[in-house]
Amino acid sequence: MASIFKGDINLKIISKGGKNMSEIYDVVIIGQGPAGLAAGIYASRARLKTLMIEKEKAGGQIVTTAEVANYPGSIENATGPSLVARMVDQAKEFGAEGVLDTILDVELEGEIKVLKGEKGEYRAKSVIIATGANPRPIGCPGEKELTGRGVSYCATCDAAFFEDMEVYVVGGGDTAVEEGLYLTKFARKVTIIHRRDELRAAKSIQEKAFENEKMHFMWDSVVEEIKGDGIVESMVVKNVKTGELTEIVADEEDGTFGIFVFIGFIPATKLFEGKVDMENGYIITDEDMKTNIPGVFAAGDVRVKSLRQVVTATADGAIAAVQAGKYIDALEGKEYGK
Ligand code: NAP
Repeated sequence: MASIFKGDINLKIISKGGKNMSEIYDVVIIGQGPAGLAAGIYASRARLKTLMIEKEKAGGQIVTTAEVANYPGSIENATGPSLVARMVDQAKEFGAEGVLDTILDVELEGEIKVLKGEKGEYRAKSVIIATGANPRPIGCPGEKELTGRGVSYCATCDAAFFEDMEVYVVGGGDTAVEEGLYLTKFARKVTIIHRRDELRAAKSIQEKAFENEKMHFMWDSVVEEIKGDGIVESMVVKNVKTGELTEIVADEEDGTFGIFVFIGFIPATKLFEGKVDMENGYIITDEDMKTNIPGVFAAGDVRVKSLRQVVTATADGAIAAVQAGKYIDALEGKEYGK
């Protein structure tokens, strides 16, 4: 996309942290998934001084998705990372700044909001919370120790390690089944371990899974323990109906197998506990993305909503940015857009 701006605006890059502390931004966006990036695009395009803060790298959950088939306008074989890369470029083109930092504390009540990060302190007239949600762990012994050593929460990232091996996918929702199907392109056998005897995933996704010869299913089962010395070597699975325990041991030649966990998400809202109104850990907003605190908005998977998809996250981000602009205009006694 051609930028409407000329000169140094196009040269702004995502910096590694430590912004000018005296600067007061119009909008600071916490989180650079699709919701935060859409907010960044809309806010910077409206010529609001915009900073996007991200703790590791842009993208959020969508970068763990191999195929983005249902985002309107997705091109054939569009991947999560490629979609996010285009969003980042777009936000930068419009002049949004980016910084890598982890926010540790927030003061949201005053007219100037203060965000305290590991590398710096950021001040803004408005804040958009777009921190998203993180994968839910199984919570069984061995899971934490063997994460990155056979246990994974991202098929796109780790599928290639299991070329022609066996993998197990825990969960029965859309994510588990879609990612399981993706894993069949690498693994010789993919077994879905689900705690009930029917999948939660959409029927269209289920049909593809049942038709795929590489897909197998362990019903009414939960993972009780993951074992291994530095790498996954076996796992104990319990049948929830009979109570029977089965130990699945790695094929001798392979020495290991993959365990991909897709059992839902936990909202990343710890930072805002006791500060912003929430329900079951998700931030409550109205349809304008306003939270209970003036000048503080929330967008994307982090908020209470009925559909958590890229398309709804980006829509939230756009609304939040426009409303942040209106809020700032009102604060400064200006008519909207003047
Ligand atoms: P989800 O729909 O919440 O499904 C989570 C799955 O994990 C369920 O099958 C659940 O079992 C199981 N589960 C939850 N806690 C568990 C535990 N402690 N132990 C074992 N199993 C557990 O999550 P998701 O699949 O990540 O999807 C999240 C949202 O994104 C959904 O709204 C989904 O529709 C959407 N999504 C859409 C697409 C698409 O449209 N292409 C793709 C991916 C995700 P039960 O079924 O027994 O509850």
